[in-house]
Amino acid sequence: MRQWRRQNLEHARAKARRQNRKRRDYLVAYRRTPDRRLKQAVRNTSYWAVEAGLLPRKDRCERCGAGGKGVRLNRHHPDYTDPLRIVWLCTPCHGDVHRKAPESDGACRVGPMDPR
Ligand SMILES: [Zn+2]
Ligand SMILES: [Zn+2]
Repeated sequence: MRQWRRQNLEHARAKARRQNRKRRDYLVAYRRTPDRRLKQAVRNTSYWAVEAGLLPRKDRCERCGAGGKGVRLNRHHPDYTDPLRIVWLCTPCHGDVHRKAPESDGACRVGPMDPR
């Protein structure tokens, strides 16, 4: 009986380890894959839409108005479920939007699937 219990305990531990690893692998895959694939798809769509002339290409930041030579504009996605809704932002503004505006949280940032 004692022998059985010890074997059973070891068996249970091995099982728990396997399950933990499985859960961790699942979480890693869950965090990485859907997010990356969604963002890549959205970026491709908006890039194509701009190239095709469906979306206006702006030459000024929609937040601070910076433009001209040396100003790199980013396509910011306020909502990743709406790939054709983009906001043109200069790099500093883009950073500000992601750091400061909670309403843009969850969109256009790394790891929107991360639990909080
Ligand atoms: Zn700006
Ligand atoms: Zn953004």
